[in-house]
Amino acid sequence: MKTYLSEIFSSIQGEGPYVGERHLFVRFCACHRKCIYCDTNTELADYCIVERQPGSGEFEQIKNAMSVTQVADIIRDVDAKTRNKQISITGGAPLMQSRFLLKLLPILKNEGHSIYLESAGDLPRELKSIIEFVDVVAMDVKLESVTEEKSTFPAHWQFLKLCRDYNVEVFTKLVLSANTHEGELMEAAKGIKKAGGDDTLVIIQPMTKAEKTDAVPSPDQLFRWQDKVASVLPNVRVIPQTHKMLEML
Ligand code: SF4
Repeated sequence: MKTYLSEIFSSIQGEGPYVGERHLFVRFCACHRKCIYCDTNTELADYCIVERQPGSGEFEQIKNAMSVTQVADIIRDVDAKTRNKQISITGGAPLMQSRFLLKLLPILKNEGHSIYLESAGDLPRELKSIIEFVDVVAMDVKLESVTEEKSTFPAHWQFLKLCRDYNVEVFTKLVLSANTHEGELMEAAKGIKKAGGDDTLVIIQPMTKAEKTDAVPSPDQLFRWQDKVASVLPNVRVIPQTHKMLEML
């Protein structure tokens, strides 16, 4: 079995509650969504870019598609050069490659790795097929007023409930822009509470300026939205994309 990857590298986790931890990132190509603020090339790449020596800025190009054995070997090689706390499975939408993950993740788990899955949070069936191999789920809850795509709340609630049912650590991430509709934000907060419980951690991630949008939220908006979400879900933090400040991968 083979898949398309865009990057493998070790860096600092720049988002969410694990910010600052050293992670080994495995970035899959392709995504079923088209968020307006997307900062990732989601096309199928001809080559996977591998930074074998973390921070060196030297990248090896490996022809796609790649086998499970190839990917596991590269992860071993990069991980041997630095201590990574977790393997961050990211994309694109890695769950679109759930059959590949079903082969790769057991190998990584057997070798003692903690698996951190970053997901758009809307493919519950695919999550279910691999959930036993995942330690932490970082799931988005996408707002139509921010992504400019049709709302997918029901899929998010199924996804979150699944994490809870399987006792997998999960946190939700709300990317908010200046265009965030407050009514929709509160509907999301209530949906998170219902599906995940009121102790669910919510990360408000202020949108970073992107190629197609510069609707970055103001400090005033962020304070107000944090207060509003906290009236439903007390555990809410505002964390920006810190790796971008440092111009890291
Ligand atoms: S889900 Fe993520 S990778 Fe896919 S389009 Fe949205 S921001 Fe980009």
